[in-house]
Amino acid sequence: MLAQFNTAQDPTMATASDFLATLRTELQSIRDAGLYKTERILRTPQGAHVRTADGREVLNLCANNYLGLSSHPAVIEAAHEALRTHGYGLSSVRFICGTQDIHKTLEARLASFLGAEDAILYAAAFDANGGLFEPLLGEADAVISDELNHASIIDGIRLCKAQRWRYKHNDLADLERCLAEAAAKGARFKLVFTDGVFSMDGTIARLDQIRAVCDRHDALLGVDECHATGFMGARGRGTHEHRGVFGQIDIITGTLGKALGGASGGFTAARREVIDLLRQRSRPYLFSNTVAPNIVGASIAVLDLLEGSTALRDRLQANTSYFRTAIAQAGFEIKPGEHPIVPIMVYDAAKAQQLAARLLELGVYVVGFFFPVVPQGQARIRVQLSAVHEQADLEHAVAAFRQAGLELGLIR
Ligand SMILES: *Cc1c(COP(=O)(O)O)cnc(C)c1O
Repeated sequence: MLAQFNTAQDPTMATASDFLATLRTELQSIRDAGLYKTERILRTPQGAHVRTADGREVLNLCANNYLGLSSHPAVIEAAHEALRTHGYGLSSVRFICGTQDIHKTLEARLASFLGAEDAILYAAAFDANGGLFEPLLGEADAVISDELNHASIIDGIRLCKAQRWRYKHNDLADLERCLAEAAAKGARFKLVFTDGVFSMDGTIARLDQIRAVCDRHDALLGVDECHATGFMGARGRGTHEHRGVFGQIDIITGTLGKALGGASGGFTAARREVIDLLRQRSRPYLFSNTVAPNIVGASIAVLDLLEGSTALRDRLQANTSYFRTAIAQAGFEIKPGEHPIVPIMVYDAAKAQQLAARLLELGVYVVGFFFPVVPQGQARIRVQLSAVHEQADLEHAVAAFRQAGLELGLIR
């Protein structure tokens, strides 16, 4: 009898030694589907130009380095200074011995920058979202989430016991429907949660209208500002400022890992009671190490820079509007908008990959996005602009796009 068992066919009988074989099969199916992701190795700091492992210098149009702060001299100097004054690491979570004066300073500075009462730091925005919902909402409550929200929001919501609704992307009527249903089910508290800016399309959430809907339905509003903090709005405070509802968002989550220097770290900003409870109960905060002192020191310097001058976000905005106009004039279809994320629509996944590969040969580093990252048949190149791009860089980029687009028959 025993000899008849075939462990390869009966997964319940698989042995530990089948484990790696199973993973190899899974990896092969990812490759076969054309979805295997490789990592391009850089040898230089992040910047307008980067050198890849083969020694070539290319114009970089795919970083979240919106303000160019990833390699800004004042930011690097502040990180060095914090290393000297506060050491390299704390080897502790916050509530044991991982809180320095600079952590408290940064939390207060972030809260004031975002128009909130208090803020709490996390090792990443992924953790801020992952540890947000479970401590705040229970079975009696409802969370209502945009269907295109970031993976970390989806995971965070999964971890909480609240009832869940998903509304159609940026669709206020559908949001109203969800809120009405939640009310009909007797939800105690209702929390609506959305990305401020959606990273695949550069869509900017209509926070003014969403706020009004939330007010009509007596709901709280939370926004993930990862692609907005530092440069959206006249003073760079974020999507809420851009949409005229600064100071009117109940919960803001965001990252230090994009525009604000691009190292790592995340935060939640909200009313004091919210932040106090997160410090008591939020698991990624309680059970994960404190943010490193050099990142904290550098982030304070970033806020000094941004509060002292809007030059960087102004430059980013000028670069964005120049590039959006020029690339459209070159014959490409882009998703209309005003965000430095500029999706250049190719539709066909293979063509998008060919375009990215040809552009790299022409010295322009961009990445193609296709299913499942974006819907089937919606393949695109996502360009991200930065304040460190010079006019000559943008002209070079448009010329390279034009040449590659003509060669591939994408434009005329
Ligand atoms: C990048 C991103 C995150 C994750 O940020 P990290 O700090 O890198 O973990 C979360 N939400 C959104 C919308 C993002 O774009």
